[in-house]
Amino acid sequence: KKLNIALCGLGNYASLLAEGLQVSEYCQLSGIITGTPSKAEKWKKQYNIPEKNIYNYENFDTIVKNKDIDLVYVVTPNALHKEFTVRAAKSGKHVIVEKPMAITIEDCEEMIKVCNDNNVQLAMGYRLHYEPNHLEIKRLGQEKVLGQVRYIEAGLGYSTYDIHDSNKPVNLNARNEWRLTKKLAGGGPLINLGVYCIQVSRYVLGEEPIAVTAQFGTINNRNRFTQVEENITWQMEFPSGAVANCSSSYGFGIDRFYAAADDGFFEMSPAVSYGPFVGKTSDGKVFNFPVINQQQTQMDAICKVILENKKLPNHITGEEGIKDVKIINAIYKAAESGKKVSLK
Ligand code: NAD
Repeated sequence: KKLNIALCGLGNYASLLAEGLQVSEYCQLSGIITGTPSKAEKWKKQYNIPEKNIYNYENFDTIVKNKDIDLVYVVTPNALHKEFTVRAAKSGKHVIVEKPMAITIEDCEEMIKVCNDNNVQLAMGYRLHYEPNHLEIKRLGQEKVLGQVRYIEAGLGYSTYDIHDSNKPVNLNARNEWRLTKKLAGGGPLINLGVYCIQVSRYVLGEEPIAVTAQFGTINNRNRFTQVEENITWQMEFPSGAVANCSSSYGFGIDRFYAAADDGFFEMSPAVSYGPFVGKTSDGKVFNFPVINQQQTQMDAICKVILENKKLPNHITGEEGIKDVKIINAIYKAAESGKKVSLK
């Protein structure tokens, strides 16, 4: 049997998930939830989705009666993750929710509670937890293959917006507009992209940060960045004494990871995008892992566990997602106050 998935929010990333579902072993695309009738028509034809498995945001809760949907994958703008996770869980459906888990700690707590109360599993859409290059840097760090990691640099940024000509009228494409709206995104590049830098630092070290400092960067385009940061740099201190220095941006492109350890270093660039990733160690070993379909691999791994009626491992649950939201909150607090914020 394959788990029947309904995708909620049919934007850019949902299209990648739909492609992944075409080649999945343990799950399939069986339903959709969308606020746009023209998308419902298009997806229905493209993926052969039965009319009875198509929902809009108003009638979504009637999914409770639909035995042909097992899991809802929430791929909406960040601020809506909570609402759709809660509605899906109350309808008895397992949930995978995209990163960041939600925009507030209270929302994350509510999501975890409602899923527990309704006996459904809640998974984070952290695709890199199943990607072989990332499993390798996790191994190198946690098993101290090159000694204790002392220092990490991680950065993810895209020059998504035309920052160079501020005289141009603001003409964002609809796809990116919500990312500049605090109410929908919860923040700027930190919450959307920086979450990967936080994640990779945490799983390479196998430790939780105890304190953060942070600095907002320059705003080059004041027309666009009225609500969220354009650039941010932050530092995380870990119990071992290791430090991670990270940056994320909507103004410039960066996609790299570097770890300095006692006996050498390991690095990757690109490191966080959809790949292919290029990684190596200081002793000249170049990573040589196959390029995988990240979305398919992640969904298959999660759905296999659910199909076997087992509990999802901690590193992929809501308990993991909320940790990152707490760290993001602390980083924003540190950037706003200019002071070190403790996470102890
Ligand atoms: P997108 O803008 O392409 O799609 C968002 C979808 O949500 C659209 O279909 C839009 O119609 C719908 N939507 C519903 N209510 C909306 C509202 N009030 N305002 C605006 N849109 C609304 O965005 P995306 O890139 O697909 O991102 C969606 C989610 O997926 C985000 O949480 C993002 O962080 C996450 N994401 C994850 C990855 C990854 O690699 N794991 C990559 C990209 C995005």
